[in-house]
Amino acid sequence: MSSTTIDVAVIGAGPAGLMAAETLAQGGARVTVFDAMPSAGRKFLMAGRGGLNLTHSEPLEAFLSRYRGAAPKLSPAIEAFPPDRLRAWAEALDQPTFVGSSGRVFPKAMKASPLLRAWLRRLGAIGVSLSLRQRWIGWDAEGRLVFRTAEGRPAFDAKATVLALGGASWPRLGSDGGWVEILRGRGVNVVPFKPANCGFVVGWSDIFRERFEGSPLKGIALSFGDRCVRGEAVITRDGIEGGAVYALSAELREAILGSGTATLSVALRPDLEPAELRKRLAAPRGKQSFSNWLRKAVQLSPAAIGLLQEVAIAGSVSLTSLPVERLAELINAVPIRLAAVAPIARAISSAGGVAFDEIDSGFMLRRLPGVFVAGEMLDWEAPTGGYLLQACFATGVAAGKGALRWLSREGEKRSKE
Ligand SMILES: Cc1cc2nc3c(=O)[nH]c(=O)nc-3n(C[C@H](O)[C@H](O)[C@H](O)COP(=O)(O)OP(=O)(O)OC[C@H]3O[C@@H](n4cnc5c(N)ncnc54)[C@H](O)[C@@H]3O)c2cc1C
Repeated sequence: MSSTTIDVAVIGAGPAGLMAAETLAQGGARVTVFDAMPSAGRKFLMAGRGGLNLTHSEPLEAFLSRYRGAAPKLSPAIEAFPPDRLRAWAEALDQPTFVGSSGRVFPKAMKASPLLRAWLRRLGAIGVSLSLRQRWIGWDAEGRLVFRTAEGRPAFDAKATVLALGGASWPRLGSDGGWVEILRGRGVNVVPFKPANCGFVVGWSDIFRERFEGSPLKGIALSFGDRCVRGEAVITRDGIEGGAVYALSAELREAILGSGTATLSVALRPDLEPAELRKRLAAPRGKQSFSNWLRKAVQLSPAAIGLLQEVAIAGSVSLTSLPVERLAELINAVPIRLAAVAPIARAISSAGGVAFDEIDSGFMLRRLPGVFVAGEMLDWEAPTGGYLLQACFATGVAAGKGALRWLSREGEKRSKE
């Protein structure tokens, strides 16, 4: 087995790993970034398809609260590299940002590819080398990093290592959670992965599925427990997904994992006052079909009417014979029974990962001195809105700084010996 000595190995060329590499290289370290895939930042590029929501413009206190239980652990890293710093960083790569109407921050280019290209160029210019198609498979008996490649199993002796291997959603983009068993084998507590910002499975009838798969439900409000979210959802072949669903997905997931099912309430016309809705529903139907009449009276989309009918049929309710009050109530509280959480392979992100107890304030694994972790492979979750990338970038900076401190301490120790 060939063996090479390097300064710092960063494994994972996603946003967290590349940010750690940049921090390390700026601090004077010689960095090699390894990735199993043939190119860097595949999930980052996928995030760019939705416009690349880099971060959010809300006040920092509110921003940090989005990380819920993980907020105390992530706050120091995000305070040290907050949304404004991230925006300035993007601007320095010639990718100015803007604040959208919802407060979300996007690059003006609305995609990730120009940013990633400029970033990789800058990383190359400061001496970061990129080594692709190298799957990290663990450490050998001498503590060297071992990779699997088409040619064999090269080993690298690194003074410090940053692991930024991602979570477990969208495995075909590279982050497949294959590292979990390697770290568990070293005694590191890794909390099992669960889908986050995910869709849910609904037992649609064949007719509904065939007609409405892919149809959006716009301008709706979704409620579960004491939370209500306005936005959009999309009917999928097996259930429902989309922004408003993702926003409630942590609560829905936990309810399903706890009791096997959860009922999501959909308001199809949340903007209409109940009295106005009742007034419109009191309009005579004449010879129109029920769907046509409903579409005109309440301006419901075909998918929204289909959903109403689907739920009515499942509950053996005849919509045409419902009194106006009851129909109005149903339009703004359509109950959808969620039977399961959609597979993690299609989730935007994952919950679970390396437990925070396992790392020190410099993001170093306590059990593996000299090994740092960053990004989605840590045990936190957050809603969509730019919170995911912000935490990946900020923990990448924190792990990079932690590794620099470690290198300088180890250097001092060696010079004293
Ligand atoms: C469809 C979609 C849209 C999204 N949109 C947004 C958005 O708009 N805003 C937002 O904030 N977030 C968004 N996200 C989430 C965001 O992309 C991720 O949170 C982020 O990419 C995670 O960064 P990371 O560096 O931790 O991991 P990743 O980006 O997953 O990178 C991990 C890297 O590690 C490599 N790797 C894994 N295992 C090994 C191994 N054994 N050996 C070598 N290399 C390995 C992988 O190939 C990968 O390149 C989106 C995600 C998806 C799927």
